[in-house]
Amino acid sequence: MTTGIKNRSLRFTLIELLIVVFIIGILAGILLPALIKARERGRRAACINNLKQIGLATRQYIMDSNEYFPDAYNKVGSKEYFWCFMEEGGNPYFEQGPIYQYLSTSKVFECLEFSADTSVQPYKSYGRVCGYGMNAEYVGGSPASTETDILNSGSVKAPQLKKPSSTIVYMDSAQIQGSNISEGFFFYSRFNYVSGGEQSAMANYRHSGLAVAAFADGHCEESTKPDAVKDVQHRIGWPTRESCARE
Ligand SMILES: [Zn+2]
Repeated sequence: MTTGIKNRSLRFTLIELLIVVFIIGILAGILLPALIKARERGRRAACINNLKQIGLATRQYIMDSNEYFPDAYNKVGSKEYFWCFMEEGGNPYFEQGPIYQYLSTSKVFECLEFSADTSVQPYKSYGRVCGYGMNAEYVGGSPASTETDILNSGSVKAPQLKKPSSTIVYMDSAQIQGSNISEGFFFYSRFNYVSGGEQSAMANYRHSGLAVAAFADGHCEESTKPDAVKDVQHRIGWPTRESCARE
């Protein structure tokens, strides 16, 4: 008699357990997409905050540098200066980057939504990734570049930009090599690209189809992934040549 009650009790408990598991499964199915969306929104907000801080630091840099933007890339002796850090001997030193002195932490260079394949050269030795690129072609310049185009020149002076409110300075970006996203930042914005095997750095719409950009006038915007019709300038994320032409 006692055993029978125990068995019934056990069966009842198992049924209850199954019901609870079933309900939890349904609730998880309902809540999970909402939680994922909330996490994405949080990461996008953090990204906007990062780029705002980077933009603010850049404005302070400009004030202290005779109105020049930082160089996207330059080389002095054995030191290579990227807009976001200095590299020497294959190692990045964020605290020696051009705008670091105006920031409280190098964490602002990391977009939480970005994950690169750091096993791919040339950046595997860095051990960390960023996720933001600078408009080197029209803002940052690259005086140490051996390219024969505008990248030979240094950075632009802020008043030289004709339309600062539509000129992107920094943006969620990545460079794709084959099927891999190989790096978390770039310093060149080239208007050429290789179909089918992108070599040029470009905007990376990693926030559920949105990419965050910081403009030369200091404001930040989220832009949506453009359609294929507006191809070249949008694929790499920058405004047209005309809109960010220098004076
Ligand atoms: Zn981002």
